[in-house]
Amino acid sequence: MKITTRIIAVSAFALNFAVAAPIDDIGALSVQGTQVVGANGQPAQLRGMSYYWSHSHTAFPFYNANVVNWLAEDWHVNLVRAAMAFETNAWDQKLDKNGYISDPSGTIQQAEAVIDAAIAKGIYVIIDLHTHWANDSANGRWNKAAEFFEYMATKYGKYPNVIYEVYNEPGTETWTGPVDWNPIKPYLEFIIPKIRAIDPDNLIIAGTPAYSGNLSAVASDPLTGTNAVNVAYAFHFYASTDDHLNRLLPIAKSALNTIPIFISECGLTNADGNGSLNYNSINQFWQWIDEAKLSWAAWSLSNTAETSAALQTSASTSGNWSESDLTPSGTWLRNKLREQNPEWSPITGGGSGGGDNPSEIISRNAASTSSFHFANNTISVSLNGQSKVELLDLQGRMVRTLWNGIANGSVSMSVDAKPGLYLVRIQGKNLHETHKVAVK
Ligand code: MG
Repeated sequence: MKITTRIIAVSAFALNFAVAAPIDDIGALSVQGTQVVGANGQPAQLRGMSYYWSHSHTAFPFYNANVVNWLAEDWHVNLVRAAMAFETNAWDQKLDKNGYISDPSGTIQQAEAVIDAAIAKGIYVIIDLHTHWANDSANGRWNKAAEFFEYMATKYGKYPNVIYEVYNEPGTETWTGPVDWNPIKPYLEFIIPKIRAIDPDNLIIAGTPAYSGNLSAVASDPLTGTNAVNVAYAFHFYASTDDHLNRLLPIAKSALNTIPIFISECGLTNADGNGSLNYNSINQFWQWIDEAKLSWAAWSLSNTAETSAALQTSASTSGNWSESDLTPSGTWLRNKLREQNPEWSPITGGGSGGGDNPSEIISRNAASTSSFHFANNTISVSLNGQSKVELLDLQGRMVRTLWNGIANGSVSMSVDAKPGLYLVRIQGKNLHETHKVAVK
């Protein structure tokens, strides 16, 4: 009997592990060697979707919390990328919007809708300055880029969810032309310290030559000193472009021996966002991604008239999509994400704690009568006789014992722990229950 009871208890914690939100499971990101890791030094493999250019009418209606929530709940993404246009580069003057340079407040507001939703949902978000020309310092452009990231670092630097991508795709050479890292590096050495003066630790993704496709020059001449701390290099690929598979992928594989890589954009199609899906090539890329435990965000969450767009024009701008709302690319990506990312359920809020300290019951035996209450980071429970109250992390590991002794009636205990989700396990006479709590 005892053995059976223990097996059930272990299963209960395995279940709890599965429901931890990504941010609670993985934690703050950093770079160790060439690997992006989570708070406990474990390789962190994020997977999700990149929005399309923020100023395009095929994308901006989807920059909202409903879509982020749907991607998290139905697609199981643990990462979204807000691709905030820098220049005003409208393809359709009547339908499109301005980028950051011409419309700073509108662009910020649009980004915040996605960032705030991602933080609330417990997933990661890349704040991407989406441009091909950031290394051009004319007309105060570098200061505008600094202004953008200083605002973001000030507001969001304290959230481990946030990743800064300071230069989407340097377009200083042709797809196949000579690699030129020299014009890109000074911009990175300008913008990274601007962020670090405000936010010393969140992950930064640095753009690389050839539309973030060719890592050879970067691997032999990477950023140094504080500019290299918690910085990963962008590798963008498009699986159906032969040159990406045959030339740039081997270069990236070799570069990974010396520099950390983050795939902040990739597609199943050709590099121009169009063309057919080559599944043989796609599988070769993903084999490497999973062997190397690399993070990726796929292009693009939009209904653009390109095969790389994930959505059909029938897709609602508030999520809740059916399979017929997805393109073949969108269907492949959703299946991949659901297959690889665990499902989780964040605390639904309210619970027995109420207020801003939500909690919910994970398990409770029929005889339990603890009258659990959690508010202002303080637990109150009703205990009778020898009892134990323990604070555990979501993997079921002990954080600390909150109470271990004899009690008769209501007992209060404050929870002194870093903000995040925890389990509270209560054991006593006829009492065995577990609650999930959100420590603020
Ligand atoms: Mg920070």
